Amino acid sequence: MSIAENVARVRAQMEAAALACGRDPGQIKLCAATKMNGPEAVRQAIAAGVDCCGENRVQELTAKLRENAYQGAPVHFIGHLQTNKVRQVVGKVDLIQSVDSLRLLRAIDAEAARQGLVQDILLEVNIGGETSKSGFAPEQVLPVVEEAGNFSNICIKGLMAIPPISYKSGENIKFFQKMFQLTVDIKNKITDNVIADYNVIADCLSMGMSGDYPDAIACGSTMIRVGTAIFGARDYAKDPSK
Ligand SMILES: *Cc1c(COP(=O)(O)O)cnc(C)c1O
Repeated sequence: MSIAENVARVRAQMEAAALACGRDPGQIKLCAATKMNGPEAVRQAIAAGVDCCGENRVQELTAKLRENAYQGAPVHFIGHLQTNKVRQVVGKVDLIQSVDSLRLLRAIDAEAARQGLVQDILLEVNIGGETSKSGFAPEQVLPVVEEAGNFSNICIKGLMAIPPISYKSGENIKFFQKMFQLTVDIKNKITDNVIADYNVIADCLSMGMSGDYPDAIACGSTMIRVGTAIFGARDYAKDPSK
């Protein structure tokens, strides 16, 4: 199957999942997780109509930007970002989805201030409480968002989650529901003026990957991040970082 056919199939399944729960399919974005796929595959995915590309590694992002792989399509950073690499990402991507610590939030804010811009970000939540994954614990999210007023060069657009790997459909629904509730909690705090609304928006809920995106959509996801179902299985044997 070609990349174009895969994107069309994912789109059709997104639409079916949205309609099945009475949601507008137009409110759900498709982010192509492009890690380990070269500029040509990325261009094909963009031509096939994905909404944005998500990159995991700074080195790959930088190389693909240099090669104009994204053709002006929005680019997101979705991997673990080290504070010493924020300069290579802030101002270069439309959204940093994977802000997993206050220290990183501070570093992004400082770099955005230095560049004179506001960087859009999502807070990554370790919703499954897995020790192998980074991200804020669910109970840390509201306190962190309440501090957002101290950071004038970031805008918190919402939350992102990578739940445990799911092997059968339905397994991650409890995590997706918790994530949805967290965004509702944030919006309520904004309404109650507990949270500074000028740099917290919280209308983006990035969750759902190749194995579980229909369930994520049923639980309120507004952005799914799909790699394998678009590009095929990744060949980790060819991974240059290993
Ligand atoms: C690779 C990756 C995805 C996509 O995973 P697939 O299972 O291949 O769809 C989504 N989100 C993040 C953060 C990723 O690193």
